[in-house]
Amino acid sequence: MSKLFRALIMGPPGSGKGTISGRITKFFDTTHLSTGDVLRNNIEKLTPLGIEAETYIRKGSLVPDDSMVKCILEEIKDIKGSFLLDGFPRTKTQAEKLWEVQKIDSVINLVVPYELIVERVKLRYVHMPSGRVYNLDYNPPKEPMKDDVTGELLIKRQDDDPDILTKRLKVYDNETIPVLEFYKTKGILNEFKGNTSNEIWAKLKPWLEEHMDLKEEE
Ligand code: AMP
Repeated sequence: MSKLFRALIMGPPGSGKGTISGRITKFFDTTHLSTGDVLRNNIEKLTPLGIEAETYIRKGSLVPDDSMVKCILEEIKDIKGSFLLDGFPRTKTQAEKLWEVQKIDSVINLVVPYELIVERVKLRYVHMPSGRVYNLDYNPPKEPMKDDVTGELLIKRQDDDPDILTKRLKVYDNETIPVLEFYKTKGILNEFKGNTSNEIWAKLKPWLEEHMDLKEEE
């Protein structure tokens, strides 16, 4: 019998949600949906949501709840089976709206010290179309500044600028910590601490093996 696992991955900006999500989808049978990636794709395609979102993202602020909720509920409606939501919800309002239409089985919260995040993000580069994340220090691409899969150029996210990152971490404290409290009261919050994604993965993988189906191929 396949296990249905509707999960969220949470953690401050730069805590490794993208990296860890990549590993989860490599080994386990689930659909990954990153709201940051959805928004960046909308920005690139100049959709009304993308045009609205861009002004907020550039400043390190959150996109308004109404637009986010509408977009994400629309996206998850079509997902059959297990999913891993990455970057949503980020406010208590979003969490409440999501809970009304879709109960969540587990929240995976990545706990990384903020001082390390600031250092790590300085060396973070992304492949925008896929959302693959690299770190020049401990997870470099095989060829300098090129995506391992497509060979396309890696870029630095504008909102990874140190001043904007500091702002995003403050927004996280104010808006997103209450979301963790919300899930704690539901009894579904699971914390995984570490200084690096490898340290976190070493604790998370055995836990996932108990809760999720492994991918069949590979
Ligand atoms: P991320 O790639 O998850 O760090 O998201 C990048 C930016 O997109 C954030 O700093 C926000 O401006 C915006 N964003 C992503 N997810 C949400 C959300 N659930 N609510 C509001 N804004 C969001």
